[in-house]
Parts: sequence; C-alpha cells; structure tokens
Amino acid sequence: MRRGVTRSPLPWLAGLIALYLAVPVGAFVVRFAVSNQRGFGSAGLFPSLLVSLESATISLALITVLGVPLAYLLARSSGRVASVLGVVVQLPLAFPPLMCGILLVYLVGPYTFLGRLFDGHLTMSVTGVILAQTFVSAPFLIVGARAAFASVEPSLMDVAATLGHSELSRFRRVALPVAARGIRAGMLLAWLRAFGEYGAVVVIAYHPFSLPVYTYNQFSGAGLPTTLAPSALALLVAVAVVGLSRIRLDPRPRAALVPEASAPAPSPPHRVGFDLDHRVGSFRLSVSHRPGGNRLAILGPSGSGKSTLLRCLAGLQGAAAGGVRLGDRAIEGVRVEDRRVGYVAQRFSLYPHMTVWQHLMFARGATPSIAAHWLARLGLEGLEDRFPRQLSGGQQQRVGLAQALCSSPALLLLDEPFSGLDPPVRRDLQRELRRLQRDTGLSTVLVTHDPEEAALLSEDLIVLSEGAALQSGPSRGVFAHPASPRVARLLGIPNLHRAVVASEGLIDAQGTLLEVNAEGVGANAAVLWSIRPEHVRVRADGRLLGTLADIADLGTTTELEVALANDLRIVARTPEGLDLEVGQPCRIELPPEAITVWPDPMPTSPTSAPGGGEASRPA
Ligand code: ADP
Ligand code: MG
Repeated sequence: MRRGVTRSPLPWLAGLIALYLAVPVGAFVVRFAVSNQRGFGSAGLFPSLLVSLESATISLALITVLGVPLAYLLARSSGRVASVLGVVVQLPLAFPPLMCGILLVYLVGPYTFLGRLFDGHLTMSVTGVILAQTFVSAPFLIVGARAAFASVEPSLMDVAATLGHSELSRFRRVALPVAARGIRAGMLLAWLRAFGEYGAVVVIAYHPFSLPVYTYNQFSGAGLPTTLAPSALALLVAVAVVGLSRIRLDPRPRAALVPEASAPAPSPPHRVGFDLDHRVGSFRLSVSHRPGGNRLAILGPSGSGKSTLLRCLAGLQGAAAGGVRLGDRAIEGVRVEDRRVGYVAQRFSLYPHMTVWQHLMFARGATPSIAAHWLARLGLEGLEDRFPRQLSGGQQQRVGLAQALCSSPALLLLDEPFSGLDPPVRRDLQRELRRLQRDTGLSTVLVTHDPEEAALLSEDLIVLSEGAALQSGPSRGVFAHPASPRVARLLGIPNLHRAVVASEGLIDAQGTLLEVNAEGVGANAAVLWSIRPEHVRVRADGRLLGTLADIADLGTTTELEVALANDLRIVARTPEGLDLEVGQPCRIELPPEAITVWPDPMPTSPTSAPGGGEASRPA
C-alpha cells in the first residue's frame, strides 16, 4: 500500500464475502474434475433437466406477457390501488418459497374450484411446476420492469402523444424500447429463479421431477457424489443463460433513405387564444389570452407556471384545464393525439433508441419528402443515422424542432428550447427560428425566461408570475411600458424607478432632481423613469455625487452601482476599466435625452420609494 494512503477495511470486507461465494464453486469444480463417479448415468437426470428447462421458459413467457403491462401500469399510476398492488406483487419475494407453494394450494389444489375445473391437472404435473415457478419468480420481472418504466422520462411520452401516438403506440414505441434493458435484466432473474425453484415446486408438483427436486432426492437417497451431475448441468445452464442474455439484440437500424425534399403546403396561420384555470398540486394557473399575432411568448421566472401553461395548450393536462382556441376552432375537447400541436419539451424531447431520421418520421402521418425538407432546412443533412447521444446540444434541439415540424402542426409550442445551449449556438438557433416564423407564418408559443429571446421571437407577450399574467399585450408595448417595477425587472430593465414631476422637464427621484425630456405629464404626476446602464456617464465633473456601492469587471465592460441620496441606486456600464473602489465617492451624469419617463400605471403614495424599493436594484 502506498504511503500516506489510509488503510481501509473495505477491501478486506469485500474480499471475504467474495471468497465465501467463490470457494464452494471452485471446490465443486475440483471435485467434479477428479471424481470418477459423477452420476450422469442415474435414471431420470435428463428428463428432470428437460422439465426444468421447459417449465422455466413457459413461466418466463407467461410472466413477460402479463407482468410487463402490469409493471408499466404500476409505474405510471400513483393512486392508492397502485401502491397496494405494488406491495402485493412483491409479497412472494418476502415469503419463504415453501409457504408460497402452500398458498398456491388454496388456488390450484385438487379440491379448489380451479383444481376441479382442470380435473386435478394443475398439481403433480408440468403445469403445476409452471404455476409454482411463475408465482415465485414473477416479482423479479415486475419489480425490475417497473423501475425501468418509472425511469422513462415522462416528457418522452408526452411528446409522442403530441406526435399523434395513442397510449398503446406510446407503450410499444417509446416505453418498451427505452425500458428494454431493465426489462431484460428482470427477465433473466425471473428465468433463473424459475429454473432453480425448489420449495414451491415440491409442494405443488413433486412429480414430474424438476432438476432441483431430482437433485435433492439424489442427495437424500444416495449422498453427495450423485449430485455432481445435476449440479454441473445447473451450473452450465446458468452460465449459458447469463452469457446469452448479454448478447445485444438491438439490430442497427438500416441507413436512412432520404428522398427528394418537398416543402409542406403552406397553411394559413392558426392564432391561439385561451382562457385557462388549472390546478396542479397547490399551484394554480389562471391566465387568459385573446388571439393576437402569430407569435406569442410567455416570459416568467422559474416556477411561474410557464411549462404548465404550455402543457395545457398541448392538451397534456386534460380537457378541464380551460378553453383553448386555435383559429376559429375550440380544441379543449380534442385529444392530445388529434390536436395537431407540435411540442418541444423543456428537456428530453429525443428518444435515445431512435436515429435522427427515425425522429423525423416518428410523427403519425409524417411523409418522407417533408421530413427531407425539414432535415435540410434545419441543417441536419448528413446526421440522419446518428443517435441523440452522438449529437451536440444544438443539433439535438434542431432535431426536436424538426420532429415537431414533421407532424405538420397548426401550432408549435416551444418550452425554453434554447436554455441549455452556449450563447453562440443559442443565437444561431434563435435566428433560425425567427426565419422559420417569418417564412412559414407558423403560429408559435415560446416559453422563456430570457427577455431578449422573448423580444426577438414574439409579437405578443405575456409576463407570467405565480400562475397569473402580470402584464400582456403586444411585445413592443410591454417592453416600452412595463406596468410595474416587477414586470420591468422580469423584462431585464435595470434602473427603473418612481418619481414625481417637479416642474416642466424636471422630476424628483427620491430627492434627486433630474432633467428629463418629458412632455404631457403635469406637475406632481407620478411617473416611472429609466435609463439604460450604458447611457449613464461616469466622469469626474458629473453633476450627481454618490458612493460606489459595487464595481464588477465584465470583461468587455465595467459595471458600477452608484448609491445616490436616499439610496437611489443607479447601475452604469462603461467600456473603460475604472480605478475605483467600493465606498469611494463617485460622480455620474444622466443625460436628459437618455431618460425615459412614462406615467406610473400603479402609483403608490407620492413620497414612497419606487415599488417599495424593489425596482431600485438591477435585475
Ligand atoms: P415553470 O415552467 O415556469 O418553471 P412549471 O409550470 O413547471 O413552472 O411549474 C409551476 C408550478 O407548478 C411550480 O411551483 C411547480 O412546483 C408546480 N408543479 C408543476 N407540476 C406539478 C405537479 N405535477 N404536481 C404538483 N405541482 C406541480
Ligand atoms: Mg418550465
């Protein structure tokens, strides 16, 4: 052991149990090798092996056909019935196998209803062996498959629904392939458990001998040496089955044959309007929007209900979420699969088992020539045969977008589609989407927490907070005239403050008099005013004296926060590096032409600090 490394007991503990597990197998192999009486000639050995192989395989088939749907439903349900059922199906794991056999007697024993119905053939028969094995080994598959289904991202299922796939199709084409590994591991355990089951089998079907029952009989009748052959066979089978299960079955998909591209027929824009009132847990979303332009953005902080709103529009929250209109059609009663609403989820819109081309062709009714069009249009040519893990973040988002477009949607919903991307990639994609909006006239609802993105990609804007709209209307208007300091902060406008008009061209901002170019506001009127940080001049002969509250070097610019009288804080940004320290006096100038003033839509008492002080700090 290297010096300086603490001696750890872990390798010793691990080594001890590994030895305990390995030594008996080693000893058996040695004994098998040197023995000249292994018991291969004993009567009944190979028939019992056949019984075990046959019954375990039929058991597994039964468990798979019935247990996989059960596991899927359990993974997707959260009710009381599901949790009770979840415990019940695990009971055979906790119960001694012998007792499981005894329990089964109450169901399939010769004197029960079922037993009589089948003339007693459910016991003391291969059928009995299968029934006993199924009972004890089913939980291994159900528990494994349930965990695998539970780890399938719900948004993958949601996106598939918006692409027109029914519940059964989503199960078959999304849940099963994504959960396949976990299901296979469960199948392996279930088969091995069924093959090796002794306790339950011996109660239900002592005859015909299965391999474990045969082996025990040999052991108790003729002693250890005659168990060499059946044990060796069992070991061989176990090794073979584990080996077989490691063979990857997923065939590589054939290379995509991309046909000649043809653009989709232009469809008239379908403007969206809604009147939603919906609860999830303790959260309530209550928002209305009258159809306006084609491009709507929902801007709000994390947790404000943006994704929930989008899910309501897609139909993923059920019909009771409220009214949704698309063009002149009310669609709240239309199933998700039939809404023709494209949906790019906040994360995870891509299927790990599908290539790019398969994604594009995944929507119900997708046509190859239109898929080829979007493939080229979104710069994905040459990537058709790649899987999502072989794509960059930006390419993945393009695939998500192309996939939604291939369903020829009447409305496209985008949930923070660019949020995880590097700034340059993000800007590229934003511009791409803007061109798409312009060229296709497609109606979009974009969810974002980035004001710049909202400004770039929307005509109408809803500023959302805690499930309600703080302000809505044409984006230009909302950006130019935020209704409150809170909205201004969400719009990323720093230096927004309240003031009172002192006289023509002069406002009183918390005791600091500022010259402004404002017309049409009378004396004593409450106003909001703001100035962009890059318009604030920091200079030795500045008229306003304050104290430097903060200074940060942002690489290409320096950002300062200057506290004026009554703690009126002004953020300034300059390209020059400044040799100033926090706490030092600092002079600034606010050019009148750079100050925007507008009537305060929600004036507080004339002397109060703006927005309770909340607008005084930069976002
Ligand atoms: P955003 O997308 O704006 O970040 P969301 O729409 O995801 O916000 O969530 C809004 C609120 O609803 C959050 O407070 C969240 O915790 C809550 N919420 C979302 N989904 C559920 C749910 N299935 N059960 C309970 N609460 C939920
Ligand atoms: Mg969200």
